[in-house]
Amino acid sequence: MKILLIEDEPQVVEFLRKGLTEKGYETEVAFDGQMGEKLASKGDFDLIILDVILPNINGYELCKLIRQKGLLVPVLMLTALDNTDDKVTGFDSGADDYLVKPFEFEELLARINALTRRASGLIQTSRVIKIADLNLNLNKKSATRGDKHIDLTGKEFELLEFLMKNKGRVLSRVEIAEKVWDITFDTGTNVVDVYISILRKKIDRDFEEKLIHTKVGLGYYIDEA
Ligand code: CA
Repeated sequence: MKILLIEDEPQVVEFLRKGLTEKGYETEVAFDGQMGEKLASKGDFDLIILDVILPNINGYELCKLIRQKGLLVPVLMLTALDNTDDKVTGFDSGADDYLVKPFEFEELLARINALTRRASGLIQTSRVIKIADLNLNLNKKSATRGDKHIDLTGKEFELLEFLMKNKGRVLSRVEIAEKVWDITFDTGTNVVDVYISILRKKIDRDFEEKLIHTKVGLGYYIDEA
């Protein structure tokens, strides 16, 4: 776990670096906003602890810059100011949490744990493919349409996953059979058609908008209507 510490007060840096190292965190320090931006841009930190009052670029500005670069790393802001306006400014600039100085080290650790847990949760839940109101969760191996849970067997799930990952692309029966069933399609089986019709019943039948489409003579694809 690698933490970037952006703070200009040597005593605070020393206190944090010592504590975090003892807890097994790897730390890198930037003593001003510019250096902070440079290091943050490397994008290889699990968390950034960011002081608000900094030379060159202040914490709010820096946090905005980090978000503009598309970096999703959790940012914990530190400040001596305890009023609501500052908190709002902090969250507006893209910070994930806020800690007012002086703070107990244990409190900081608790926030760090919460933020990094939440971040790894985000990566997990992002393994969801979505087309219209159809959601396929690749971690849980589950599917929903609207608020309705859809029961799928293993093969049905694999077929739907293959279709959804190729959204809008017409897939021939041969290609589907090879990818999903690992069979070459000269066996005269109609397994693909059978499974497509099962998926249609489960996914489309009860809904106005049909998502699974047939391209006559070519194959199947999934897309918004
Ligand atoms: Ca400062």
